[in-house]
Amino acid sequence: MIGDDEARSGLPSGVSSYYASLACTRDPYADPVAAQFMPRDEELVSLPYETRDPIGDERYRVCARVIHHYRDRILILANDRCATYCRHCFRRHFTAHSTGRITQAEVREAAAYVAEHPECREALISGGDPLMLPDEHLDFLLRALRDARGDLILRLATRMPVVQPSRITTETAAMLGSYAPLWAVIQTNHPREITPDFGRAVGLLVNNGIPVLNQAVLLRGVNDDADTLEALMRGLVQCRVKPYYLFQGDLASGTSHFRTTIDEGLALMAELRKRLTGIAVPTYAVDLPGGAGKVPLTEATVVRHEPQWYVLRDLDGNEHRYPREERRERG
Ligand code: SF4
Repeated sequence: MIGDDEARSGLPSGVSSYYASLACTRDPYADPVAAQFMPRDEELVSLPYETRDPIGDERYRVCARVIHHYRDRILILANDRCATYCRHCFRRHFTAHSTGRITQAEVREAAAYVAEHPECREALISGGDPLMLPDEHLDFLLRALRDARGDLILRLATRMPVVQPSRITTETAAMLGSYAPLWAVIQTNHPREITPDFGRAVGLLVNNGIPVLNQAVLLRGVNDDADTLEALMRGLVQCRVKPYYLFQGDLASGTSHFRTTIDEGLALMAELRKRLTGIAVPTYAVDLPGGAGKVPLTEATVVRHEPQWYVLRDLDGNEHRYPREERRERG
């Protein structure tokens, strides 16, 4: 169901019946799933440093659907629609505000761009959600990119396994798998989103040779406690999904009620590192405002340098010395 709520927030409201069924709507603002799709009055509050394009996509737009920000990769905005509109969406300048599906002419333009730019090694296909395109349309896009560059890494950003897992059919997964190397990046934010349907959808992708990574967003009232994040990361690894990033909230208009402080995020990461195996620990990161790029957020492990030692901090805050050895020539 889609209801146009743009006057309130600049982003339409809409949720798939599947994702709505995961929520407890008795007190939606206290529910970690409902909070992700129910518009609320706080969205009307835009702070002076918030914008509708917080990571600066538009500065790097090189043709109708292509953003070339980082030297070795491009972003292709394949579609502006989503099965569920996340209230914390950072791409709200584009999501549901562009011209819908990428056209065949725009696909050819994007393919020509990657053919002419060998420094570009990877194409991130995003939107909106590219899996809102019919399979034939997505197949046309992937075929054009693969024909342009056999060596191109393809990365599909989609929330479908979370908000509408039935979209991942056997046929869709096989079609995507035929374009290897193709990676999928999903966004799962709460352990309640890890259902049997979710497991089946990501399992189909993995079984078709598609590695699946998760980019969670740290959201106040949704997952800003260590028990929830631990359960989320463990559930993902159980489904063969690698926790990749945990993003600090972007400075998108009307999303301040979702943001934690960076200090809170660092404390949560310190706790997760104590509790979790390394493969379940994501990188905590932030996209710097205005397009300055993505940086990891860490408590520095190297506390200081002494003449003969590095002083390193362990997970409990204790300091340890590690030798500053002279560089020795091998041989
Ligand atoms: S699925 Fe992605 S693009 Fe769509 S509303 Fe959610 S965060 Fe934004």
